[in-house]
Amino acid sequence: MQTPEHGASPLIEVRKLERRYGQGEAAVQALRGVDLDVQRGEMIALMGPSGSGKSTLMHILGLLDRPSAGSYRLGGRDVSRIGSHEAAELRGRRIAFVFQGIHLIPRLTLAKNVELPMLYARMPAPERRKRVSESLARVGLEQIERRMPNQVSGGQAQRVAIARAVAPGPDLLLADEPTGALDRSAGREVLGIFQELNQALGLTVAVVTHDPFVARHAQRLIEIEDGRVVSDRPVEDRLLATRACGEPTP
Ligand code: ADP
Repeated sequence: MQTPEHGASPLIEVRKLERRYGQGEAAVQALRGVDLDVQRGEMIALMGPSGSGKSTLMHILGLLDRPSAGSYRLGGRDVSRIGSHEAAELRGRRIAFVFQGIHLIPRLTLAKNVELPMLYARMPAPERRKRVSESLARVGLEQIERRMPNQVSGGQAQRVAIARAVAPGPDLLLADEPTGALDRSAGREVLGIFQELNQALGLTVAVVTHDPFVARHAQRLIEIEDGRVVSDRPVEDRLLATRACGEPTP
C-alpha cells in the first residue's frame, strides 16, 4: 500500500525552523530559520562551532524537543506539534540515537543490553532474539555477546550501543559526537559501521560533529553557525572506513 510514508518525499523536511530558549531579555535564539531536506538513505554530517545549535537541531529531529516556530515533517508527516506520548512512540519505532557517553547497563550481558529496549516495546521473544543476534553480528560482536560491559573496550561498548540502537529496525540514526570519547582507530571502526548500516540497510544517518575528519565519512556536509545553515554541499573527498567482514573479535 502506498502511504505518504513510502512515497518519494524526503525522510526529513524542515522549514523555517526556530527554537528559542527562555523568555524576554534572557531568551536565547538557538535556531533561526533552518531549512533542510534529507532523503532516505543519505548519510549526512552536521558541523559547526560549539553553541551553533547542532544539538538543538538534533533533539528536534529526534523528537526529543519541539520547535518554537516552523515545521518538521518526518516521513511525510508533520510532527512539529505532536504530543509527547505520540512522539515517544514514533521515536521508539523509527529513530535510533547514539551519543558520546556510552550508557550500557552494567549488570546485564551485552546481548541483554541490546534486547532491553525491544523488551520494553513488548516485541515477542523470538523476534527479539533474532534481532539481537543480527545486530550484534552487524557490529562484529556476536562472539562476545555474553560478556559484561566491564569486560569490553570503549570502542566495543560503543558498538554495542549502536547494535542496541538499530536492533528495533529504525529508519533514522542520529549520532551526536559518537566518536568523541574514542581513540582514532575505535572511532574509525564506529564510522565504518555507520557507513555499512547506511549502505547495507539503507539507514539514513545524521552525525553531529565538530571534527572535520569525522564529517568526511558522510556523503554530505551541512554547516551550522549561529542557528542557521551556512553551507550544504556534497563531501568531495569522502573517506571510507568500512570494516573487513568476518574480522575476528578479540
Ligand atoms: P551546539 O550543539 O552546536 O553546541 P546547542 O544546540 O547546544 O549548540 O546550543 C545552541 C544555543 O542554545 C547555545 O547558545 C546554548 O547556550 C543555548 N541552549 C541550548 N540548550 C539550552 C537550554 N536548555 N536552555 C537555554 N539555552 C540553551
